[in-house]
Amino acid sequence: MKIDFTKNPEGLVPAIIQDAKTKNVLMLGYMNQEAFDTTQKTGKVTFFSRSKQRLWTKGEESGNFLNLIDIKVDCDNDTLLVTVDPVGPTCHKGTDTCWAEENAQGYGFLSTLENIIESRKNDPDNPDSYVASLFRKGINKIAQKVGEEAVETVIEAKDSDDDLFLNESADLLFHYLILLKAKNFKLDDVVNILEKRH
Ligand code: AMP
Ligand code: ZN
Ligand code: ZN
Ligand code: ZN
Repeated sequence: MKIDFTKNPEGLVPAIIQDAKTKNVLMLGYMNQEAFDTTQKTGKVTFFSRSKQRLWTKGEESGNFLNLIDIKVDCDNDTLLVTVDPVGPTCHKGTDTCWAEENAQGYGFLSTLENIIESRKNDPDNPDSYVASLFRKGINKIAQKVGEEAVETVIEAKDSDDDLFLNESADLLFHYLILLKAKNFKLDDVVNILEKRH
């Protein structure tokens, strides 16, 4: 890879750090030749820190490393796009990105829903929550609900009412997310298996 380190007097190029999975831009850092070589050798993203004036492996104190997936150089060889698999939040202030964006929205609203379901699981005595009431009844009841919604979806699939089919599909997906959470799994665990099969 040809990288032009000469445009900046300190021999630094900007490195845009992107989450390989969610495509979120996580942070921006600078690399010199040595930081670039270290990143490639160790598989952990390493910058030249302008404030520390030394090589800085992101995560060296916090453990929140950025595991390297791929590096691409831009059209005129002076900016890097680094895709990573982040360990924990990237920003030292605790958010996923340095622009205070919140945690893993990889599946959009489904991820938001997953987080809400998790908070209900952690608050099972909540008298106003249907989801909490399901967690109180236990895993067999939740699994049974998934079965019922699956059957209702099958029945509506045979009909021509699109609206009913979509609504039963939504019921199914919703209860399936609750079942996953009841078993302490995440949507990501299932998607990972699908990706491996692909
Ligand atoms: P870490 O590299 O995660 O162990 O963090 C070590 C120190 O680097 C922190 O105390 C911050 O001063 C700084 N730091 C960590 N993450 C970032 C970041 N995403 N952007 C800017 N500075 C950071
Ligand atoms: Zn450029
Ligand atoms: Zn930050
Ligand atoms: Zn239903």
